[in-house]
Amino acid sequence: MSSYLTDDQQQIQSAVMELCARFPDSYWQQIDKERLYPDKFVQALTDAGWLSILIPEEYGGGGGTITDACVVLEAINRSGGNAVTAHAQLYTMGTVLRHGNEEQKQRFLPAIAAGDLRFQAFGVTEADAGTDTTRIRTTAVRDGDHYIVNGGKIFTSRFPHSDIMLLLVRTTPYDPNTRTTQGLSCLLVDLRDSRDSIEHRPIPTMLSHDPYQLFFDDLRVPVENLIGEEGKGFSYILSGMNAERILLTSEFLGDGFWFTEKASQYATTREVFGRPIGQNQAVQFPIAQAYAELEAASLMRWKAAELYANGQSPAFEANAAKLLSTQALWKAANACMDTYGGYGVTVEYGIERKFREARTPLVAPVSNNLVLAYIGQNTLGMPKSY
Ligand SMILES: Cc1cc2nc3c(=O)[nH]c(=O)nc-3n(C[C@H](O)[C@H](O)[C@H](O)COP(=O)(O)OP(=O)(O)OC[C@H]3O[C@@H](n4cnc5c(N)ncnc54)[C@H](O)[C@@H]3O)c2cc1C
Repeated sequence: MSSYLTDDQQQIQSAVMELCARFPDSYWQQIDKERLYPDKFVQALTDAGWLSILIPEEYGGGGGTITDACVVLEAINRSGGNAVTAHAQLYTMGTVLRHGNEEQKQRFLPAIAAGDLRFQAFGVTEADAGTDTTRIRTTAVRDGDHYIVNGGKIFTSRFPHSDIMLLLVRTTPYDPNTRTTQGLSCLLVDLRDSRDSIEHRPIPTMLSHDPYQLFFDDLRVPVENLIGEEGKGFSYILSGMNAERILLTSEFLGDGFWFTEKASQYATTREVFGRPIGQNQAVQFPIAQAYAELEAASLMRWKAAELYANGQSPAFEANAAKLLSTQALWKAANACMDTYGGYGVTVEYGIERKFREARTPLVAPVSNNLVLAYIGQNTLGMPKSY
C-alpha cells in the first residue's frame, strides 16, 4: 500500500505495525481459543491515539482523514491482528461528527479522545428486519425530556466493551404508504448508566466479534442524546455506512495481503518432489491472481476514501470496494489454505483462524447480494428487487 501514501501516512503505517509486533500470533491464538476480548491490544491502540484518529484536533483527537484511518486498520490486519475488535469507534464517529450538535461533540469527543470513553457499539440489526433496516421495530416514544425505548437488537458487537452505543430506533411507526426510510432516528445510549437495565445475551459465533442480543424494556434515553433531526436517522446511518464500508474494506485488504504474503513465503520455502511448491503454477497462480485482485480493490478503496474525505457520499465506490475486497480476500484465503496443504487447518500455523475471519465479510456488515442490488438498481438504474 505504500506507494499511494504520503510520508505521514507511511509513518502511521510503520508505527501501527510496530505496535502490532508486540501482539504476535500466539497472542491472537490465545484470544481466539479462549474467546477473550483483546483488552491489552485495544488499550494499546487507545493509548497510542489510533482509535481517535478521526476526532478533530480541537476535541483532542488526531485530526486525521478517513485515509489515515484506513492505513491504521489495514496495518493491523496485515500484521496478523484483528481490528474488528475495536474498529467501530472509527466508523460510528462519522455519524456524530457529521450530524451531532456542538454540545454532543463537546460532551463525548474529548473523553473518547482521552481514552476515558469507549464508543464501540452500534445497534442497527434486528432479528425480524434482517437486511431490511426500514422494518426495524425498536421504538422510541417521547416522554418529556426523555425517549422511552422498547424492542431489541441482534448482533450488537462489543456491547460489554463500550460505554456508548449508537442506536437506530423508530420514532414514527412503519407505514408502507409513505417513504419507509423516514421516521427512523439515531440515539446515543450511555451504557455507563443503562447497561445493567438492558438485558443482553451473548451470541456464540465462529469468531471473536462478541456479538450480543439486546432487549430494551422502557429504556430511558435523554432527548439531548438524539443525533441530528428526529426521523432522519436512516440517512445519517447510510452516510455512516459509506465510511464503514471504506474502513472495513481496509481490514479485508489487510487480511488479504496477509494471506498472499504467508502463502508466497511458504510456497517459496516448502519443498516437495525436490523443489519449492511455488514453482508449480497450480500453486503460484491462485496466489498471484488474488494479489492482483486485492491491489485492484485497494485502488477502488482509495478512490472512495478520497471522495468521502472531500465531503461527498461515494456510495457506489464504497460498495464496490467492499464487494471487490471481500471477494479478493476470500480468494487469497483459499489460495493460502491450499498452499499450506494439511498444515493450513492446524491451529499452530494460524491460517485457519484467519480463514474463519475471512468468511464473514462476504455477508456482514452487509451481504454482497445487497451490494450488487445497490449497484444494479442505484448506479445502473435497473428495476428494484425489493
Ligand atoms: C459477526 C457479526 C457481527 C455483527 N455486528 C453487528 C453490529 O455490531 N451491529 C449491527 O447492527 N449489526 C451487526 N451485524 C449484523 C449484520 O449487519 C447482518 O448480519 C447483515 O446485515 C445481514 O443481515 P441478516 O443476518 O439478518 O441476513 P438476512 O437479511 O436474513 O439475509 C440472509 C441472506 O439472504 C440474502 N438476501 C436477503 N434479501 C435479499 C435480496 N433482496 N436480494 C438478494 N439477497 C437477499 C442476504 O444477502 C443474505 O445472504 C453483525 C453480523 C455478524 C455476523
